[in-house]
Amino acid sequence: MTEASPFRPALEHALKHALQYLENLKHSPVAASASAQNLRERLCKPLNFDGLAPEKVIDELVADTAGGIMGNAGGRFYGWVISGSLPAALAADWLTSAWDQNAASYSCGPAEAIVEEACGTWLKDLLGLPAQASFALTSGCQMAHVTALAAARNALLTRCGWQVERDGLFGAPPIRILSSDQFHGSITRATRLLGMGTQVVVGLPTNHAGQLETATLERALQEAPDVRTIVLLQAGDLNIGAYDSFAELIPLAHRYGAWVHVDGAFGLWANASPRYRHFLVGVEQADSWATDGHKWLNVPYDSGFAFVAHPDSHREAMSYEASYITHNDEVREQKDWNPEWSRRGRGFAAYAALRQLGRQGVATLIDACCESAHDLVMGIAALPGAELIWEPGVNQGLVRFLDPHPNAKQSDHDNYTDAIAEAVAKGGEAFFSNTTWRGMRCMRVSVCSWQTDSQDVARAIAAVARALEQIGWRD
Ligand SMILES: *Cc1c(COP(=O)(O)O)cnc(C)c1O
Repeated sequence: MTEASPFRPALEHALKHALQYLENLKHSPVAASASAQNLRERLCKPLNFDGLAPEKVIDELVADTAGGIMGNAGGRFYGWVISGSLPAALAADWLTSAWDQNAASYSCGPAEAIVEEACGTWLKDLLGLPAQASFALTSGCQMAHVTALAAARNALLTRCGWQVERDGLFGAPPIRILSSDQFHGSITRATRLLGMGTQVVVGLPTNHAGQLETATLERALQEAPDVRTIVLLQAGDLNIGAYDSFAELIPLAHRYGAWVHVDGAFGLWANASPRYRHFLVGVEQADSWATDGHKWLNVPYDSGFAFVAHPDSHREAMSYEASYITHNDEVREQKDWNPEWSRRGRGFAAYAALRQLGRQGVATLIDACCESAHDLVMGIAALPGAELIWEPGVNQGLVRFLDPHPNAKQSDHDNYTDAIAEAVAKGGEAFFSNTTWRGMRCMRVSVCSWQTDSQDVARAIAAVARALEQIGWRD
C-alpha cells in the first residue's frame, strides 16, 4: 500500500475497544455506574473549533462514555425486554455502516433490497405467517404497529368508500380498537401518530392469566356491530408474556368484519419453537402482525418487522406513489412498504442473525431463554423473603419481595421490592427492571439474550440473595 487509509486507524481502534468491551462483559458491572452529571461533565464539552484525528475521536468517545454503557450485551441483563447482538449480526451491522447504502429503494442499494426480500420470506416461514403477506423492516415494533395500523385504517375505510390517504381523517367514519387491557404503550402512540387519538383504544378486562376472553370480546363487538373495528391481540404481553386465544378470537373478530392486529414484539418468536408454538395456534389467521428483531432475535438496534396479510392495503397506506400508479414489480421498493424514505440497510444484520442461527438455532435460542427465565424466577422465588407472582410460560416472569417488618403494608412491600432491584443493580452482577402489575410492584424477569447460560442464572440468583441479606438487615 502506498497511500495511508483514512479509515484504518479509526476502525482499528473501534475494533479494539469493541472487543475489549464484549470480551470483558463477564467481569464488568451490568448496570451503568456513571451519573448523568458525570457523563455531562465529560461529554458536553464546548465543540472543538479545529477537527480531531478520527482515532482520537473514537478513543475519547470510549473514555468519556465509561460507566454510562448498560451491560445488556451480556448474559445477566434481565431488564425490560432487551438483549444483545449475535456476532454475525453485529459484524453485518458494521458492514452496513461501511457500505452506507440508502435502503429506500432497489436502485440505491440493490443487494440490500434483495436481502430484505430474503428476510421477509424466511421470517414469515419461521414465525408461521402466510407466505403471501407483505412486510416491512422497521426501526422497531413501535413503527411496525404504525405501519400495520395504517394498513388496517386503509382497509376499513376503503370498505366504506373513504380514501384516507387522500382525504385524511377529518370527517371520516370513526374506527375503534378493541384490545386486551394489557396492551403496550406503543399502541396508543401509533394511534396518535395515525391521527386516531388515544381514545380509540378500548382496553377490555382480561382474565387471571392476562388473556382476553371470547365472551368479553363478543360482548364488546355486539354493543356496536356497525363501527369499523380493529381487534388488537397480544402474542406475549410485556409483564407475563400472556397470549390471547387466537384460534377463538380471530374468527370471532372476522365474523364482525374487524381487522385483527397482533402485537408479538417478542412473543411471536415462540412460534419458531416446536416446544412453545402451542401458544400461537391460529395466529396466522390475523390480518397483521408486528414484532422485533432487536429483542429475541438478538439483532443490534434498531430492528423491527411488520407483516400484513393484505398487501394492497399495506402498499396504499405506505407507498409514496398513489395506488393508481402502476408499479415496477420486478423488484421490491422498500419505500412502498416502509414508513421512512431514506433509511439504514436494516436487512443485512437481520439476515446475518438468521443465517448464524439457522432454523434450528432460532428454536434453540427460544427454548434456552424460556428455560433460563424459568430457572431464574423459581430460584429467586425460593429465597427467603421472596414471593412468586408469575411463573414464566415463556421468557417473562414476576417475583416480589416482602418487607420483613411485622406490620408491613402493601406499600412497604412495594418499596422493598424496588429497593431490592436497586441493590441488585448497584451490586453490578445482574440487572432487573420493575413493573406495577395488578397494583403490586414486582421485579420483572425477562430473558432474551443468546448469551445467558446456567452460570449467569446462578450468579443472578446469588446476587438477589445478597441484596436480600443486605437490605433485610437495614434499620
Ligand atoms: C417492546 C415492546 C413493544 C415496542 O417495541 P419497540 O421495538 O421498543 O418499538 C411493543 N409491544 C410489546 C409487547 C413490547 O414488548
